[in-house]
Amino acid sequence: MAASTTDRTLENNRQYASGQALHAPAYPGKQPIRPAKRVAVLACMDARLDVEDLLGLQTGDAHIIRNAGGVVSDDAIRCLIISHHLLDTNEIILIHHTRCGMLAFSDDLLKAGLEGDPAAEKLLGQATGRAFTSCRQCASTPSAFHAFRGALEPLDAPRDAKQTERLTWDVRRGMSAILSHPWLPTSGPDAVSVRGFIYDVDTGKLEEVSHPGPMGSFA
Ligand SMILES: [Zn+2]
Repeated sequence: MAASTTDRTLENNRQYASGQALHAPAYPGKQPIRPAKRVAVLACMDARLDVEDLLGLQTGDAHIIRNAGGVVSDDAIRCLIISHHLLDTNEIILIHHTRCGMLAFSDDLLKAGLEGDPAAEKLLGQATGRAFTSCRQCASTPSAFHAFRGALEPLDAPRDAKQTERLTWDVRRGMSAILSHPWLPTSGPDAVSVRGFIYDVDTGKLEEVSHPGPMGSFA
């Protein structure tokens, strides 16, 4: 079987991690609207991820969808459906990363802090090293922040086995949410493939996450 675009981007990533970026930032001229590599990437907004560089993608190659965490949110699904059904992408790459800010809080903690709970304000201040200033208002949106499951850790904590496990869980949850969506076919003539990865911000390397597998634990 021919190598997929995802496989080729993994080759590019090995080159990137060794210090050689393949992305050419110059204006490439007129481009078609459909992504040339037929790939859609969903990745965290983290400032340390330069998605085109780390995958060796050029302008016009891919849809790149980003949000806090690279979460498969309602809006991310909306983008993926449009990307596939209208603009002909057939591979989805999901990227989470080490030291992600989404490991350092929970939805309840952030909401309580924003609403004015002094204990939550204090904890968030300690976790981020920034004075957390409550807004002292309740709000109906966003309905969720999608903080990652598992025991909280300090912001930007170095990777350890527990962090890898939490990231792995969340990549799998994201893959599962995409794979089970009725409007993103994963079999038949119009199928999309989905592969998930953890990007290590300290090494520049992508590591693939297997699916299916565990997606969390209260233990
Ligand atoms: Zn992140």
